[in-house]
Amino acid sequence: MTTHAAAPLPLADLLPISAGLTPGGHLALGGCDTVELARRFGTPLYVYDAETLRAQCRGYVQAFSDEYPESTVLYASKAYLSRPFARLVASEGLGFDAVSGGELEVLRAAGVAMGRVYLHGNSKESWELELAVRSGVGRIVIDNEDEIPLLGEIASRAGVRQGVLLRLSPGVDAHTHEKTTTGILDSKFGVPVETGAAERALAAALEQPALELHGLHMHLGSPIVELAPFELGIAVMADFAADVCRDRFGVEVREFSPGGGFAVGYRDGDPVPEPSAYARAIAAAVRREWGERGLPLPRISVEPGRSIAARAGVALYHVGARKVVPGVRTFVSVNGGMADNVRPAMYGSRYEALSAERPTAAPEETVTIAGKYCESGDVLLRDASLPRLRRGELLAVPASGAYQLSMSSNYNLSYRPAVVLVEGGEARLIRRRERASDLMALDVDEGAAAEGSGGGSAGGE
Ligand SMILES: *Cc1c(COP(=O)(O)O)cnc(C)c1O
Repeated sequence: MTTHAAAPLPLADLLPISAGLTPGGHLALGGCDTVELARRFGTPLYVYDAETLRAQCRGYVQAFSDEYPESTVLYASKAYLSRPFARLVASEGLGFDAVSGGELEVLRAAGVAMGRVYLHGNSKESWELELAVRSGVGRIVIDNEDEIPLLGEIASRAGVRQGVLLRLSPGVDAHTHEKTTTGILDSKFGVPVETGAAERALAAALEQPALELHGLHMHLGSPIVELAPFELGIAVMADFAADVCRDRFGVEVREFSPGGGFAVGYRDGDPVPEPSAYARAIAAAVRREWGERGLPLPRISVEPGRSIAARAGVALYHVGARKVVPGVRTFVSVNGGMADNVRPAMYGSRYEALSAERPTAAPEETVTIAGKYCESGDVLLRDASLPRLRRGELLAVPASGAYQLSMSSNYNLSYRPAVVLVEGGEARLIRRRERASDLMALDVDEGAAAEGSGGGSAGGE
């Protein structure tokens, strides 16, 4: 044990900042023994570290206010959202990006100031626009020409002058995964500049008396490791702000959003720019590009999601069966997988893992960590170097806080995991594990209802 305690914690740059070792040599998060957490709450378990979450929020707020005082940081809710999570993020002074009526409802229920919420989406439905307008969201980000008359009418009927931004597709490749790039011409998101659609959309938005156009928006994709795509995109936006908004329509772009998409570390040695590097590059590009065209500087709003939530979260699984295919591969199965983390199956995302029971143990073999779901593609980690894991051992996967639970499913009628928030040695359950009754709660099963008790109890929680 002393050798364990003396060894440095591996993957320290990927784990939450509070990660450490217990006296017994287990992985500790927020002062809590992960083995104890797994025993108390079951697995798969998602553990969020409050200290890391606050630090990430503060890091972005601080970096942007240092580099560009007229700036706002909005947390992109789709990375992960629940009411307790939203309250914690709001308490750090961030606003929110939402992309659905459901996210708006959770933000409202959490007591978030709706004036600090922006609504996005390439296929916003009437009810979502209606909900956004009536709940007083600060901005609705127009994504296409189609939604302009619809939103204009909804706002007008509600007697509201709705603040909007126009999302442009600047035609810039951010060199991320093909499924997560959004700023290129061949994308479903944003109004393309190069086809002339952006200019038409601007004219249409200005014609709507119930819409107040504050400025422009772009979002290039995620995760973006390079700074150059932001600079290229900002130059395209400044051109549009000068040549089209000012020169042709006489309107000032008072607000500009370069979106989100800031990178995080998933694997040891991943290159990850600091928030200050993004802030510096974006602030300098806005000053330069707006300045060169003689435009007054806009307010900026940025939308980090992944970079706020990912590092704060760790997924814990119990190890199950081992299957050795001699000369081919050793599979070690765990009790989670694509239902709680679809990213490896969907994007080929790579992760690291460590034994939560003996995080400093030396690697002994290379194995594939397989999920438990009925898909061959349900593999969480390929070719991971790990100590020889025993059945029942606890495995921890860092950088699990973003786009995992928010993309989770009940595939194979699995129970979505519990979520705990840890801090100062205390663990607070913020979402309980699902159970069988949750799986059946929404069935409209008249047969069971007629029987009285039995299946009818499914909805009775
Ligand atoms: C998803 C999204 C973001 C957040 O992206 P991250 O990679 O989580 O930072 C920001 N803005 C818009 C419009 C988005 O769709």
